[in-house]
Amino acid sequence: MITIEGITQMRGVSRKAREEGKLIALVPTMGFFHEGHLSLIRKARKVGDLVVVSSFVNPSQFGPGEDYGAYPREPERDRTLAEENGTDVLFSPSIEEMYPQGYSTWVEVEGLTEVLCGRSRPGHFRGVTTVVTKLFHIVQPHYAIFGQKDYQQAQVIKRMVDDLNFDLRILVEPTVREPDGLAMSSRNLYLTPAERKDTVILYPSLLRAQELVQEGERDAGRISDMIRKMIADVERAEIDYVSIVDGENLRPISQLKGKVLIALAVKIGKARLIDNILLSVDE
Ligand code: AMP
Repeated sequence: MITIEGITQMRGVSRKAREEGKLIALVPTMGFFHEGHLSLIRKARKVGDLVVVSSFVNPSQFGPGEDYGAYPREPERDRTLAEENGTDVLFSPSIEEMYPQGYSTWVEVEGLTEVLCGRSRPGHFRGVTTVVTKLFHIVQPHYAIFGQKDYQQAQVIKRMVDDLNFDLRILVEPTVREPDGLAMSSRNLYLTPAERKDTVILYPSLLRAQELVQEGERDAGRISDMIRKMIADVERAEIDYVSIVDGENLRPISQLKGKVLIALAVKIGKARLIDNILLSVDE
């Protein structure tokens, strides 16, 4: 595995790989690897001949007062884990490299970014789509792999790839969870032991919703009320949203039908946690 910090060098490696007919698979990350990231890297290893993992804590996707400064970083450990899981190139550019003096261009997807996390994190997706566009131009991947945990992000990026005619495929991999169901996230580190215990309600609330659907419930209001009630039992949990939306366009629905996303964002202590399940609902 090689580590690259410069954009020019990264471009050179990608250009050579393409000339040799190799398929490039990119996994964009903000580092501080856990099993979720590693599962994406292993997927990249399966589909690509050259596996590039980018690690860049992107300032432009954090709002004022969010956790940019506190975001955990552990580059040495990341290097080892990346290599052990099949990475060929770890691309970790500096902020100056990505956003030099005078930087002033942004990529914005409308609609899909105005719901769910877009409501409580204005500007977040603009930062994501901008940095991902830059990474796509620099790395020139054939595949880019994202996690279902950030389902909205994956939908926004797919929209952008279609709209801007990027010549690559987006793959979305399942959410990797702790043994008790908590979706793995770098932000879980912010939880105190007591808060960590409180998180155990989140995934079961989604599973309970799934059960209700299996039992025949189709009313979105009743299902989201049930989820809210379960979470409200946990004193420290502050609900940002519990939403039941169309799995493609992310618009709220009142009756469940077809591809349905049940998504939540809950603040527990300093951590804002998100999770979701995707259901295929027949009439
Ligand atoms: P991050 O470093 O948090 O920006 O995440 C980088 C990529 O890993 C994104 O595509 C995330 O959706 C994905 N990811 C984060 N957590 C998980 C998880 N628990 N399971 C699967 N993918 C994940």
